[in-house]
Amino acid sequence: MNISELLARHARKFPEKTAVIDGETELSYAEVNRTVNRLASSLARLGLGCGDKIALYMPNTKEFVFSYFAVLRLGAVVVPINARLTASEVQYILDHSDAKALIAHDSVHQALVPLVGKSDVIWIKTGKEEDGWRSLEELIGSGDPKEIVCLAKEEDEATILYTSGTTGRPKGVLFTHRNIITVADMIVIETKIDRHSRLLHLMPLSHSAPLHLFFVGGMYVGATHVVAPAFSPEALLELVERHKITHFFGAPVAYLLTAKHPRFMDYDLSSVRYWMYGGAPLSREEVRFVASRFGAERVMCLYGLTEAGPNGTYLAPEEHEEKAGSVGKYAALHCEVAIVDEQGNEVAPGEVGEIVLRGESVMKGYYKDEEKTNDVIRNGWLYTGDLARRDEDGYIWIVDRKKDVIISGGVNIYPKEVEDVLRTHPAIADVAVIGVPHPEWGETAKAFVVLSAPLELLAEDCKRFLSGKLADYKIPRLYEAIAELPRNATGKVLKQVLRAREAAQEV
Ligand code: ATP
Repeated sequence: MNISELLARHARKFPEKTAVIDGETELSYAEVNRTVNRLASSLARLGLGCGDKIALYMPNTKEFVFSYFAVLRLGAVVVPINARLTASEVQYILDHSDAKALIAHDSVHQALVPLVGKSDVIWIKTGKEEDGWRSLEELIGSGDPKEIVCLAKEEDEATILYTSGTTGRPKGVLFTHRNIITVADMIVIETKIDRHSRLLHLMPLSHSAPLHLFFVGGMYVGATHVVAPAFSPEALLELVERHKITHFFGAPVAYLLTAKHPRFMDYDLSSVRYWMYGGAPLSREEVRFVASRFGAERVMCLYGLTEAGPNGTYLAPEEHEEKAGSVGKYAALHCEVAIVDEQGNEVAPGEVGEIVLRGESVMKGYYKDEEKTNDVIRNGWLYTGDLARRDEDGYIWIVDRKKDVIISGGVNIYPKEVEDVLRTHPAIADVAVIGVPHPEWGETAKAFVVLSAPLELLAEDCKRFLSGKLADYKIPRLYEAIAELPRNATGKVLKQVLRAREAAQEV
């Protein structure tokens, strides 16, 4: 089975079933499939085919769906790019992935105009033809609707996803059809997605959880997909009510913002069976707050990372009451989890170690980077870079990312622990803690604080607040008020930007 066949199969089995809703447009599985055949045949006419890399630079739209499946139908490899990336970031990905073509959406293509004509990439956009750009609609219109049978095998390459670069230069994570279908199979079983489910896609489909877990997951069983180009709390609330959504996946920040929306209670959200969150940490208090708004019996935490498909662990709704803030006890279907020390031996409960994952969904490797691949996949296990400990009941609590740990005077400070406490300060809206060089201790902690109310003596107030709540050595010595934390396109704090800023100030 390949991913393209998922769509073709549903188009044969229940052609009239609604596959995609984009604004006022509703398309059946048969219609989407026909469009995909047309587009695939036109792309083939342009010389594109099996194994070629084709980038997509689009928000969540019906055209994303057509393009995604058309590329796969050719046996080619999809390279989805977040449509908020700048021209130079896109250039890096195009060069690194050896992309032969890029399909952009009209609403965002302007950002890439400086790149057009500089390479032999074929540039395609939705809407009218323009200088250097072919029109997607014209390609679809002139294409052949005859069914193209995709011959890709499970072990063939399907997608290269570029990580968002929270910890450095984006890495090209290469997946086979089997890797992705394994994740899809996991999620439909764990969260009971079926043909009657209605999924809302508000998180960028250029990322692993929205794309593999949620979109391909829904396609796996023939669910209905509502696509919308950008997240806002209003969009979430309105679309859930209007389309009687049954499943939603969102980054933690999406839930926090929506939960605080003044008209939250005005909307009927009762159709939702699973509110899934994941991709970044939420403190215990934040999870409890989100659960109190969205319904503890319906929230589900997913932990994973791009390189794992993403597959990993989950905390089911019924476990939230007692274990909110944990990422669960067991691995999700098709995955194994362990917490290990530097030698790869499982650590005892209570001890901090690194989470490792194993299973069919783990990436084939980093594209063109065998060294990095061998660095993270050892003895068949994917080393996640996430530090965690199990509690006395076996539940896993993420401590922090290995790369973010501050080593001060030989002891470890986990920034996440400090951030979780500081966030409960009534005058603090947001915070990020990083390590900065210190002549005696090697590193010391510095907190970047976004204030929601003025604090007279930022450092003194914060230290007083933390005193008694955290051991002395964990309390940051340095504080700086900042208007906004630098975040990537998926809302994660970019700590390397803060570190670079510190380094620049030292010079
Ligand atoms: P890069 O790999 O380039 O740094 P990234 O950090 O955005 O990019 P992702 O694969 O999107 O890469 O993020 C995965 C990471 O997000 C995990 O390793 C973990 O640190 C964090 N994460 C994911 N899910 C959860 C969760 N439920 N709770 C806490 N942290 C999570």
